[in-house]
Amino acid sequence: MTNYFSHDYDAQNDIKLQTLVMEMDYAALGRYWCIVEMLYKQGGRIELSQNKAIAFALRTEVANIDQIISIVFEKDDKYFWSESILKRLRLQKEKSNKAKISVANKWNPLLNAKKRSKRLSEARKKASHTKKEWEEMKVFFRETCVKCFNESKLNGVVKDHIIPIYQGGNDGLDNIQPLCAKCNASKGADTEDYRLKYCLENNLEMPTRWISNAYEMSAIKEKKVKESKRNNIYLAGKRDEFLEELTNVLVTWNKTYGQNLRSSRSILDNYAYWREVYSLDEILESIKKSGKTWLAGKPIETFFRQKNPNGEKVDYISQALNFREEQGEGIIKIS
Ligand SMILES: [Zn+2]
Repeated sequence: MTNYFSHDYDAQNDIKLQTLVMEMDYAALGRYWCIVEMLYKQGGRIELSQNKAIAFALRTEVANIDQIISIVFEKDDKYFWSESILKRLRLQKEKSNKAKISVANKWNPLLNAKKRSKRLSEARKKASHTKKEWEEMKVFFRETCVKCFNESKLNGVVKDHIIPIYQGGNDGLDNIQPLCAKCNASKGADTEDYRLKYCLENNLEMPTRWISNAYEMSAIKEKKVKESKRNNIYLAGKRDEFLEELTNVLVTWNKTYGQNLRSSRSILDNYAYWREVYSLDEILESIKKSGKTWLAGKPIETFFRQKNPNGEKVDYISQALNFREEQGEGIIKIS
């Protein structure tokens, strides 16, 4: 309710409220706000004969309530009201009617129910799942939206058909991913299986029964290639070297563009692959040339996250830096 109140301030109201305090006291002002709340609850108008009940509820004399009404509100023989509250209630009603109409059009049950149930039963003929299986999937992905990793701050996930049912997608778990309501609503024509990205970032092995053949091929292949690259890099003992280098790259970037980007452990691994493709000079050149593009033309922000999927801040780079400072080792300056 409190969010209504700020709107009830206007110049005229202000004068009335000053008069109220001058002629009565601050307790009257408090009672005024209680009456405003009553007016909202009762549709903007209250019968004057209710003044005894109001006085009782607000622990005061009937005369005080009558005085408040005659100073601040409009009245006739039967009712008292506030024009600004009535106006606000009208606007709200219009808004909610409009919303109702647009939802009704979108999900018009008469138009769409038959079509939708037919499509769903066709999708279930191809493949289906039980409620328990869906619960298992949600637990596996820690109730996290596999697309935005809960960046949307919305709790809970909904079932998203990766290939929509109206495009011939089935109702099996190989075609279902957990998304937050926001990502689900803004999905559009996107048919990417974001579960794979989530698994790669979090070192999870997705159960093969959830992967259709088409996805299986590309996902497992990609993961294997990445793993073998990663292992090679570790074996070559470059990880430490890259940690220091990436730290310096980030420091340079943040200094140049006034940002505060951080890096996670998985970014460090990514950085190691990029360094197989780009030289350090190319990376630094890219920073100097443009604040907008970095590796492969993608904005640097897409590679660095402020938070991990559990919503905790991860800052391995700062941790590493602090550690090195404690050890009395400075940072190598690049520029
Ligand atoms: Zn999301």
